[in-house]
Amino acid sequence: MINYHLAREELVDQLERKGIKDNLVLAALREIRRHEFVPTNLRARAYEDSPLSIGEDQTISQPYMVARMTELLQLHGTERVLEIGTGSGYQSMVLAKLSDRVFTVERIASLAKVAKERFERLELRNVVQKVGDGSLGWREFAPYDAIIVTAGAPEIPNRLVEQLAEGGRMVVPTGPRRVQDLKVVHKKDGRITTTSAGGCVFVPLIGGGGWQE
Ligand code: SAM
Repeated sequence: MINYHLAREELVDQLERKGIKDNLVLAALREIRRHEFVPTNLRARAYEDSPLSIGEDQTISQPYMVARMTELLQLHGTERVLEIGTGSGYQSMVLAKLSDRVFTVERIASLAKVAKERFERLELRNVVQKVGDGSLGWREFAPYDAIIVTAGAPEIPNRLVEQLAEGGRMVVPTGPRRVQDLKVVHKKDGRITTTSAGGCVFVPLIGGGGWQE
């Protein structure tokens, strides 16, 4: 019988040692039961610091990457956040704990359906989701104080930059299909600055603002 609570504590200790500093992010990861976001046959591996398959050739991201990307958004609890790539819904729940409202878009309907059932079971009332091409954003609810793209894009998608609020931040992996650079985009006084937060590996962002299928 696996002690998930202990496994989660050990994972979070590991993330701290790897350099995650934001206490709110660490607390969210300590609380959220990642084993409920992975297929049953992979539950025993839920607290390894690695991505895991969730079907449809997609993955739940590595916990370190979830923590790092969330930390880079510098959330304080009042933000409206757009997430591109709902996947399992795990990252959405981390964002939901740390912001006011999360809008999440997934292009694969079957994954979105499973995530929706999880959000309902976990009574997450501040997550709004839809199926669609998130590389074009979600114009209806724009602008967003923070945008997180959990799939790799060839370049920073223009529509997402447009939908970022003044003072807002976006994290987005960009670059070649196999390995990317994690970009942090900041909109200040209408101007865009971009910095790099290091290398990463994500599944491709497929769509009008991403790769062709
Ligand atoms: N955030 C997810 C989690 O916590 O499980 C991990 C997401 S997985 C690494 C990337 C997801 O992006 C996949 O589910 C994939 O189907 C989705 N995706 C790829 N292109 C997309 C697009 N244009 N719009 C929305 N979702 C997209």
